[in-house]
Amino acid sequence: MSASIIDGKQLGAEIEEGLKSSVSKMTASSRAPHLVVVIVGKDPASFVYVRNKEKACKRIGIRSTRYDLPEDSNHDDLISLVRKLNDDPEVDGILIQSPLPSDFDEIGITEMIRPDKDVDGFHPVNLGRIVTGRTDGMLPCTPSGIMKMLEWTGESLKGKKALVIGRSRIVGMPAALLLAQRGIDATVTISHSKSEDLESLCRSSDILIAAVGKPDMVRKEWVKEGAIVIDVGINRVEVGGRIRLVGDVEEGASEYAKWITPVPGGVGPMTISMLMMNTVRAAEARMY
Ligand code: NDP
Repeated sequence: MSASIIDGKQLGAEIEEGLKSSVSKMTASSRAPHLVVVIVGKDPASFVYVRNKEKACKRIGIRSTRYDLPEDSNHDDLISLVRKLNDDPEVDGILIQSPLPSDFDEIGITEMIRPDKDVDGFHPVNLGRIVTGRTDGMLPCTPSGIMKMLEWTGESLKGKKALVIGRSRIVGMPAALLLAQRGIDATVTISHSKSEDLESLCRSSDILIAAVGKPDMVRKEWVKEGAIVIDVGINRVEVGGRIRLVGDVEEGASEYAKWITPVPGGVGPMTISMLMMNTVRAAEARMY
């Protein structure tokens, strides 16, 4: 068997196409949705991620503004900026690009963003809503992108065994909560660095979400025949003197899986499309 590819680039483009009409309606009747992205410091990867977000805004017609705070700015500078953006009626979405310099309290800053402008979906109010079964608000982008990809396969997840490898606040934990929602109804196991016998957990899972950040940590032969594999990991490895992006799942897993996401071109583009969706939702909630 060779798995079918869940093409995040293609699916993301379709989602963006759907958002364009909402954006043009808003723009015609009032103003374009407005996303503000804040970068602190000079992390090169952050600039690449932010540029991709800006490009997506442009494609859809969302206004985007970037604030670059210098490396030596302090916590109070960022807090004042967040307060200003919270109060600005012309700003619909606020995103503070991670990572912040090590002396910043990243979680504390996230908590200062108004929940209805928290387009990353990381504010405790937005994460907490998922626990109460509400999935109509600002969902964290990578987990909601994963759910869209699973939905796109047309496979029923009801009663299926899903394994989420990784329990981070931004990917693993919320992905597990979304999989366990009523109506989705997967039976979810969360594994982490202290979990024993990852191999058996993988071998018995119908849905495998790998969100760790370690290349090849899921061996191809661990993948259950016919499973759906969502590879969230983004790892830079050197192959033949060149840097390649690879996921957490060993190449060749498609011999076992029924569906699999590529890296790159899988979860990454979906994450950006979900950010665009949250920004449009935030603007709609403000305008209508
Ligand atoms: P974190 O480092 O926050 O979390 C990694 C998780 O993996 C932790 O829960 C950790 O466990 C767990 N882990 C580590 N080693 C093992 C192991 N041997 N077995 C099982 N679990 C293990 O990472 P993120 O969640 O932020 O990101 C994960 C990956 O996804 C990264 O490669 C990141 O680049 C990528 N990513 C991709 C995105 C995209 O858009 N495609 C978006 C966000 C992230 P413990 O809690 O015990 O430490």
